[in-house]
Amino acid sequence: MWTNDQKLIVLFQKVNRTYFDNTLKIKAIYWCPISDLHNGNPNYPFWAQCMIGSREIRLLDKLKTKAPKYVLEYLIYHECLHLFWTNHCQSFKKAEKLFKRFKRADVWLDQHESILKAGR
Ligand SMILES: [Zn+2]
Repeated sequence: MWTNDQKLIVLFQKVNRTYFDNTLKIKAIYWCPISDLHNGNPNYPFWAQCMIGSREIRLLDKLKTKAPKYVLEYLIYHECLHLFWTNHCQSFKKAEKLFKRFKRADVWLDQHESILKAGR
């Protein structure tokens, strides 16, 4: 598995073990700049992205120093779910809520979106 930060592999392995019984296989997980993540669209996606075809997960590099571990785990979990459902359908949302600190992570992201978008 390719990465640009060994810590992301450790987090992925924890998510894989806790929620997927170690069955998930991905090709890469890495930090990337906002310009790559946005892919020409300024509103979507913002925090992270799962490239389903190539089985790669990438996360906004600014989170590296700012986000608590449980938020990163939540984002990785969310992106892993996209390997099963491409959109946020009812089944996706139901599965997403199985994340142990879902509410808390959701609130953190909500509170930090404007701060990070302003580049602080
Ligand atoms: Zn999503």
